[in-house]
Amino acid sequence: MTAPDPQPAEDRFARQTRFAPLGTRGQEALASSRVLIVGCGALGGVLAQWLTRAGVGHLTLVDRDIVEETNLPRQVLFSAEDARVGAPKAHAAKAALAAAGGPTQIDAHAVHLDAGVLSDLGRGQHLILDGTDNMSTRYLINDACVRDGTPWIYGGVVSGAGLVMPILPGTGPCLRCIFRDPPPPGTLPTCDTAGVIGPAVGAIASMQAGLALRILGGQEAPEAGLLEIDVWNGHVRRLAVPRDAGCPCCGAREFMFLEEAEVTEAVSLCGRNTVQVMPPAGSPRPDSIALVTRLTESGVDAQAVGPLVRFRADECRFTLFPDGRTLVEGTENTGRAQALVARWIGQ
Ligand SMILES: [Zn+2]
Repeated sequence: MTAPDPQPAEDRFARQTRFAPLGTRGQEALASSRVLIVGCGALGGVLAQWLTRAGVGHLTLVDRDIVEETNLPRQVLFSAEDARVGAPKAHAAKAALAAAGGPTQIDAHAVHLDAGVLSDLGRGQHLILDGTDNMSTRYLINDACVRDGTPWIYGGVVSGAGLVMPILPGTGPCLRCIFRDPPPPGTLPTCDTAGVIGPAVGAIASMQAGLALRILGGQEAPEAGLLEIDVWNGHVRRLAVPRDAGCPCCGAREFMFLEEAEVTEAVSLCGRNTVQVMPPAGSPRPDSIALVTRLTESGVDAQAVGPLVRFRADECRFTLFPDGRTLVEGTENTGRAQALVARWIGQ
């Protein structure tokens, strides 16, 4: 007597295709999709995880920073070993994602995303996902996406809450319809000054990823709006955002963040173990008093010295100039210096 034939193995994506709004047609669309994830730390790690596991065809990861031990409570793709060796986040993320198997092809780039890199890596992408921790990169992404007609999904998180907004050029509002100009450096809280908890990251990134699957799967995006999710106080709120007819970006199609991007470069100052980081294009002058106050509240010893702000953090010494330039002493790595400036000064 022969044993009955075993049941044929179920398709890897069976549970997902059984979800009717996606279905097999949506799954096929995912499989032929190309997505760029900018930043693969907290938000980006969760985004990359969901998109890879969902079977998106091609993922491009870009991140300029290295893994540190303080990342581990919320940056789900990294191990203690990644932190010990200071692995580039993009490469460590790719290795972790590959371990889960699946059909997704992954490219990893451990570089700073400037206008040129964004134009290169953004070419041919169906969607760009915001896993960054700074506003200047978001304004750059917004300009490039509105220019090229590529949808992108804004996500930001700090403390126990965050914001999500899908941006669909041509049909809905863009980032500058709601936040016209970047905030002055030093005025917004960052995860390093106000702290952050992992579940807030997970909630925001999961909302971004859900909307991403819907858009990539060929469904119309839900009504445009800014979503606020607060996992600490347990509330979710949607703010309707109209398109601003006077928007310089999606209205007048002026892409100032792309055009002036050359001045945002960071340069390593030869022989000094110091990097000079330029302010984002078009950013207002820094508010040194607000910055000193905020850093001091976070336990950083910061001082206003004449027109300068000086402080020490992450084993580097920072000097912020009134023109928005920052000198970072203690590293020769420009990407690292830019990441630290974003972290502490919030550019
Ligand atoms: Zn706009």
